[in-house]
Amino acid sequence: MWKKVTILISFLLIMINGCIVVDNVMAPATIENDESLEEPSTVTVIEATEDPYSEARQRLVSEGIIGWGIKNPEVIDVIGRTPRHEFVPLEYLDRAYSNNPLPIGYGQTISQPYIVALMTQELGVEAGDRVLEIGTGSGYQAAVLAEMGVEVYTMEIIGPLAEAAAERLDKLGDDNVHVRHDDGYFGWPEKGPFDGVIVTAAPDHVPQPLLDQLKTGAVLVIPVGPVGGYQELWRITRLDEGQHKAESLGGVRFVPFTRTEVEP
Ligand code: SAH
Repeated sequence: MWKKVTILISFLLIMINGCIVVDNVMAPATIENDESLEEPSTVTVIEATEDPYSEARQRLVSEGIIGWGIKNPEVIDVIGRTPRHEFVPLEYLDRAYSNNPLPIGYGQTISQPYIVALMTQELGVEAGDRVLEIGTGSGYQAAVLAEMGVEVYTMEIIGPLAEAAAERLDKLGDDNVHVRHDDGYFGWPEKGPFDGVIVTAAPDHVPQPLLDQLKTGAVLVIPVGPVGGYQELWRITRLDEGQHKAESLGGVRFVPFTRTEVEP
C-alpha cells in the first residue's frame, strides 16, 4: 500500500515539476515557436541580449513624456522605441533615460527627451513628410523623426559631431536621414521647401532663409533668445507668401546657434 502511494506521489511530482519548467521557459515574450522549448539554454541567451534599457525608457515615457503633458500618441510611441542610450557618450550611459540634456562633447548637448517630444509634437509632421533640422548634435532628434517615417535633412556646424551622428544613424539603420556638415543659417534650399523645420540651437533672431524654406501651412519650431540665458520656444506657421503666425511654447534653454565652427 505505502509503496503504491510513494509511486503515485513521485508520479505527481514529476508532472508538477514538468509543468513548472514549461511555465518558466514559456514566460519570455521572445519565444516564438515550440522548437525553443526543447532547448532551455537558448532561452537564457535570448533573455540576456534583451534591451537592458527598455524598463528605464518606459519609465521615462510614462513619467517624463506623458506625465509632463505630451498627448500625441505617435510621439509617445516613438520616444518609447528610440534607443537614446545609443546617442549619449559612454560615461553618461546610466543617465541615458533621465529627463535631462547631457553633454556630447564640443560644449554641446543632446536635448532633454521632453523637449524633443514637445518639439516633435509641435512640428505636426507625419510619415512621408520632409523635415529640415538645424543642429544635428548627437543625431537623436533626427532619429526620432526618422523612426516616424519622416525624411530628415539635418545640418551640423561642428564637423566631428556631424560625422559621428551620420555614422551612428547609419549603424542604427535610419537611412532616411541625410546629414550635412555646414552652417544651417541658410538652410538647405536645394532640398526645400520642407513640411517642417526644427532648430535645436538658439539664435537671437529667426533666420529668414529658414522661414523661406517652409511650405505653406508648414511649421518652424525654434528657440529664440540671448546666448547663455533663457530663450522662448516658438511655433511659427507659414500662412501665405510673406505671412506667418507665431505662438509661444514657453521658456527653454538651448546651446547657442553659432555662425562659425568652434575648434575642438
Ligand atoms: N538635436 C540635437 C541637439 C544638439 S545641440 C540632438 O538631438 O542631439 C545643438 C547643435 O546645434 C550643436 O551640436 C551645435 O553644434 C549645432 N549648431 C549650432 N549652431 C549651428 C548652425 N549655425 N548650423 C548648424 N548647427 C549648429
